[in-house]
Parts: sequence; C-alpha cells; structure tokens
Amino acid sequence: MTGKAKQPATIAAANGVAAGDRFGAVVQPLYLTSTFAFAGYDKTQGYDYSRSANPSRDLLAETLAKLEGGAGAVITASGMAAVDLVLSQLGPDDLVIAPHDCYGGTYRLLEARRDRGHFDVAFIDQGDDAAMAAALAGAPALVFVETPSNPLMRVVDVRRIAARAKAAGAKVAVDNTFLSPALQQPISLGADFVVHSTTKFINGHSDVVGGAVIAADAQDLAALAHWANVTGAIGAPFDSYMTLRGVRTLFVRIAQQQANALAVATFLRAQPQVGAVYYPGLADHPGHAIAAAQQSGFGAMLSFELRGGPAAVRQFVEAVEVFTLAESLGGVESLVAHPATMTHAAMGAEARAAAGIGDGLLRLSVGLEDENDLIGGLAAGLGAIA
Ligand code: PLP
Repeated sequence: MTGKAKQPATIAAANGVAAGDRFGAVVQPLYLTSTFAFAGYDKTQGYDYSRSANPSRDLLAETLAKLEGGAGAVITASGMAAVDLVLSQLGPDDLVIAPHDCYGGTYRLLEARRDRGHFDVAFIDQGDDAAMAAALAGAPALVFVETPSNPLMRVVDVRRIAARAKAAGAKVAVDNTFLSPALQQPISLGADFVVHSTTKFINGHSDVVGGAVIAADAQDLAALAHWANVTGAIGAPFDSYMTLRGVRTLFVRIAQQQANALAVATFLRAQPQVGAVYYPGLADHPGHAIAAAQQSGFGAMLSFELRGGPAAVRQFVEAVEVFTLAESLGGVESLVAHPATMTHAAMGAEARAAAGIGDGLLRLSVGLEDENDLIGGLAAGLGAIA
C-alpha cells in the first residue's frame, strides 16, 4: 500500500500488503528467526537480533502507530507488559495518578511497584473535578487514564484531563483496550501514550496474549523501545503475525459487535432481575455525552447489576447460554465475567467497594453471534434466577 495517506480502515486492512517481498507475497511472511546474518564486518542488513527488532513485530507496530496517530509503537508480550513499559520511565520521586476503578491487574501492578518504592501512586475518581485538582496539586509525573473503565464503563473526558495534566507538568497515558483505535484515538485528544492489551479487540480472536504502547513523540518512543530491548519485554514474532491478522478485520468486527452490544443493553435494561445497566451507548448513561464527543462508537463492552446479588450471579452463570463464563474480552465470541471473583479479584474487597464494583455485577463482552441468539442466551440465564 503506497501513495497518499489512507483512511484508518484501509490501513487496518492493508498496511504492508504486497510491500515488495522477493517472491511477491501479498501477506508479509512470518519471520520466525531469532537472529539475522550480517552483511559483513560491522554491517547488518537492517536487522541483527529479534529481541531488538523483528520485521513481523515491526509491521504490527507500524500499523498500530498509524491507526493511533503516533510516532511509533512498541509491541510487548502482554497488555500488562505494555502498562509496565510506560511505568518503567518513572523514578522513586515520581507520582502516578490512576483511576480507582481501573483494570484489576493494572491496580495490582501499580500497588506492587509503589510498595517496592519505584514510585508513588494516588488512586482517584478521575471524573471528580475536585479530586483531580487535589491530585494534580501533587505535581504528578504521569496521569494514567482508562476510558471506558473496566468493568463499570465510566467515561472520562480525555481532552480535559490531558490539558490539565499537561498544565501540571505530567505526561498522560490512556489505556485504549476497551475501544481500540477504530473507536477512539487518545493521541488526537492530547495523550502522550496509548496502551493496549492487544489480547482483546485488536487481535480479536482470543488466541494471542499481547500488548502495545504507542507514543505520540519520537523521543518518548525511542526511550520505550530502548527499555523494551533492555528488559526483553517484547512480543514474539508469531504473536505479532497473528495479531496483525486480527487487525485486518478490526473495523468490521467492532462495528457489528457494538451493534449487538446495544441490542443486548436495551434488552437487559427491560428485565426485572436486572438493576443498573452500564453501557455508554444508552442515552441516560452518565458518560454518554462525553463518549459521543470523543469516541466514534460506543464499543462492545457493558456491565450490569443483578438484583439478587451473588446468589443470583451463581444461578445466572450456570444457566446462561451463548455467553461463555471466562475472563478477557474483545473476541468474536461473547463472554461473561464476574469481576469480583475473576478479573478484579486482585484488587481486594475494600478497593472494589471503593470503586463501586459490587458482588452482583456482571461484565459482558459482546461478540459476533446473531443478536437473537445473544438475547436468548441471556434470557436463559435470567430465567434460572429463583
Ligand atoms: N488493560 C485492560 C483495560 C485490560 O482489560 C487488560 C486485561 O484484561 C489489561 C490491560 C492487561 O492485558 P493482558 O491481559 O494482555 O496482560
């Protein structure tokens, strides 16, 4: 794909296609090699060793960087390695401001590094202006944002947070896992870094664990790439190849998945066993207006409260059809998770309560199945609640 700048869906489908391979391969071959022959004394042919750089990993990085509008990307072994790569740039005197309701693994990592003295962290409600102002007064080095948040689908205003963070001298990283660059591009809203668990929508087939950091600035990118090479936290060539294969269909997958998610959210909110439904695509969701302004779609993730609490949760998950009880999200198949005992167990009960993650909360990742089957599957679960 050459010539003038292309639309994002074209980049996703075709970046690097038919790019001049010796045999005319349309799809870039998978470079399963740990090392590369030198052309001669002190002279590589562009690559030397696959921890430092590999063509399969580079093509994924280039494609994601174009989709996010960044200077470049570093592909990591997992989403957590991507979050950690951003945190690796901090020192013992630095403060991180993080959302009090972020992904449980991110919460655990931030706490663990704080406890080891690597930096300090303040967990706050980033939608609360006064709390943000108080936290920014502490001169943070980094504001870490996750929007929509996992699992409560809280939406924060990235442009506003980024402007305030910049004024306070902080860099801004946004975890864009829940939407992907197909629906939100945080760099265009002022972020310095975008973090992904590519395990989710970007790969989209629940068969690879991976991550990425996209940097807006070339110097920041060089620092991250250097550190990824120092620590070896890089993604494998095979995983990169598989993930790029997923990126090819990202835009069509997410369009259909979010249409299904809206149908599911609309169904759930009319059911007597269901309390609150958290889906930013619903007009009365508190984050609806911000989401409509900064996103180009509402995504395929939602969560909801069962009125019967943990007992109802057990009955529901044992009877639900079509949705599989499993962690993770963003694949073509629909999944249901119970955050309190699964994805957010690592947070501990007290932190979950502070974040509003109750024991009756269920999270759905809506896939590509037929809308009527999805609703029928949920109805089977709800019908089993005594
Ligand atoms: N960020 C978010 C929002 C997530 O949901 C997850 C995983 O569920 C991660 C980061 C971590 O990604 P990984 O599981 O690929 O390490």
